[in-house]
Amino acid sequence: RTEREVSTRFEADHDALTHLKNRRAGERLLRSLFNRASENSEMAVILNIDLDKFKAVNDIHGHEAGDSVLVEVGKRLMSVFRNDDFCIRWGGDEFVVGCYFDTSRLEDRGEAAIASLGEKLVMTMSQNFSLSDDVTIEMGASVGISVYPEHGRDLERLLTVADLAMYQSKQAGRNQYSIYQPELSAQNLS
Ligand code: GH3
Ligand code: MG
Repeated sequence: RTEREVSTRFEADHDALTHLKNRRAGERLLRSLFNRASENSEMAVILNIDLDKFKAVNDIHGHEAGDSVLVEVGKRLMSVFRNDDFCIRWGGDEFVVGCYFDTSRLEDRGEAAIASLGEKLVMTMSQNFSLSDDVTIEMGASVGISVYPEHGRDLERLLTVADLAMYQSKQAGRNQYSIYQPELSAQNLS
């Protein structure tokens, strides 16, 4: 393939700003992730990430500074997760990550494994962002987590409940993660 074909292909699948997977490619990858988990009777974890008070970064420091924060968020996501996890820019200041859980690995077993992903992610996003040599800001992110197949088997459902959990994190004061709890959200879902 020519260089131009390779780069056109990259642009089709990736977000131009952060170079993470774009939403269209991401949806396809998440479906393949669930298929793989299903074939191997394993689990997958979906994390919905929304930056906290990101509008204020744009308002106070400008849109370009906001863009540079989004790029840095992308880099941090790539560093926190494994190579075979999918890091997706879902749109705006919202990101989705899909992780395959192989329960033959000790680190992938039980609630503690999911909690440790959430903790690591929140911790990483709460580190200062440096906008220039003399300007650093604090931001943080709110995270909602859903689990395949425990919380659902199709993408729409898993995204919806991860979003509900993310909203719980916002309401509880931001800069934290929540794992979807069916009993807490029953009244919010039809
Ligand atoms: P909250 O904690 O409730 O999420 O507050 P928020 O300010 O982050 O609110 P919200 O998530 O609704 O707003 C996201 C903002 O992200 C709105 C928009 O101006 C900004 N935004 C979306 N896409 C881009 C982008 O590509 N670049 C920049 N600089 N800003 C963007
Ligand atoms: Mg936000």
